[in-house]
Amino acid sequence: MIPVQGLSGARVAVLGLGRSGLAAARALQAGGATPVCWDDNPAAREAAEAEGFECAPLTRQGAFDDIARLIVSPGIPHLYPAPNPVVAAALEAGVPVDNDIGLFFQSFATEEWHTFDVAPRIIAVTGSNGKSTTCALIHHILEHAGRNSQLAGNIGRGVLDIEPAPSGGVVVLELSSYQTDLARSLTPDVAVFTNLSPDHLDRHAGMGGYFAAKRRLFAEGGPDRAVIGVDENEGAYLAGQLTEGRADDRVIRVSVARKLTGPGWQVYARKGFLSEFRNGKQAASIDLRDVSGLPGAHNHQNACSAYAACRAIGIAPRVIEQAFHSFGGLPHRSQTIAQAGGVRFVNDSKATNVDSAAKALQAFENVRWICGGLEKEGGLAGLDGPSASVRKAYVIGREAASFAMQLKVEAQVCTTMAQAVASAVAEAQEGDVVLLAPAAASFDQYDSFERRGEDFAACVKAELDARG
Ligand code: ADP
Repeated sequence: MIPVQGLSGARVAVLGLGRSGLAAARALQAGGATPVCWDDNPAAREAAEAEGFECAPLTRQGAFDDIARLIVSPGIPHLYPAPNPVVAAALEAGVPVDNDIGLFFQSFATEEWHTFDVAPRIIAVTGSNGKSTTCALIHHILEHAGRNSQLAGNIGRGVLDIEPAPSGGVVVLELSSYQTDLARSLTPDVAVFTNLSPDHLDRHAGMGGYFAAKRRLFAEGGPDRAVIGVDENEGAYLAGQLTEGRADDRVIRVSVARKLTGPGWQVYARKGFLSEFRNGKQAASIDLRDVSGLPGAHNHQNACSAYAACRAIGIAPRVIEQAFHSFGGLPHRSQTIAQAGGVRFVNDSKATNVDSAAKALQAFENVRWICGGLEKEGGLAGLDGPSASVRKAYVIGREAASFAMQLKVEAQVCTTMAQAVASAVAEAQEGDVVLLAPAAASFDQYDSFERRGEDFAACVKAELDARG
């Protein structure tokens, strides 16, 4: 655990008592503060009380009179579409609002660091897609290189749950836009921006607010090195803002759309090869075509981002290349779960938005595409071009019929996963890929994208077993 520094003796309100809220309460207590907790769900309050934490309604008159700060969980709106009533009460009372990430950055460095040979480092990753894969890959490379590494944030452990860092230790942190928007301290050593496409727009009042939230990771103090995907205007703009000139190598630019060979520091992937250029000279090249854990151009982007972040802390290209080959990938992201009769079955349940599903479709050919679910804002037009690889779509979800109508490919309304898998298996021919890449959230039929991916795997197994 990371005890919270700087709030000893203070009363600190904690709103939301899920994993990160409870961890914040414990870390505050360990640092000498008194957490005052609330969650609208009585069961969550009971769990906190069972641990001995004080729970009190935070919207009552005067509730914030003696409170130094309010810590808010990421699932709770802090500004858009409207602040949660407790957040509104804190704002009204003039109490600063923060989250566990802010507490972490203010508390991570300790007195003990003076005695360390190598100061610990934090690599923080944000962006619309590829964060988890990039973080897991960085962590894998660091472990392969013999460095002490801890994975935290949205992936791995809660930030305040990790161990204090040893000399030379690295923390790899996955941060969502909700988290970067709210944290009062954000001071990573290396910050990574993977890419940007529309997502969570209701929580940020549109695309500008969404980008502004992510950008804070690069603005609050500024990292020593920034790794930035420049294939969208926002990334190119951010990279430009952070550099003094073309040769400034504090920014490492990443692309999977074009060659980047000018002055400065850059990493790009083209036709399956990763290249590193520094000051106009090629520093390394890696063949990604037979790296089985990272299929498709989108994963080549993740490989470039992870490569650049690890180069920024001094890991050698050959060590990174070796680690790529032993990376197994993450469950529910372009994950091959079965092969039978020349047909490959790929679970990309994490493709919850149009952009990630488009990337999955582009990574394969002859696709029998299982898609649908709770549609997000922005429509499905972004799938029109990428679905050129699709032989047929099998649409699931409560609104499967209206989802199917918007697709530009032959589409069968299946509604359930079992029906979709049965139809796809019955029709698949040798060389086809049966791909779950929903382009939608799962909540109309499942608790989470993980459950949806597990159901897909179970249906595939049942169907293949039944066919012998
Ligand atoms: P995040 O943590 O940002 O949600 P993940 O690594 O979990 O990212 O991947 C989420 C989804 O996006 C998966 O469907 C995955 O196949 C797809 N994906 C992964 N990397 C990228 C990328 N660089 N660009 C677009 N889509 C990606």
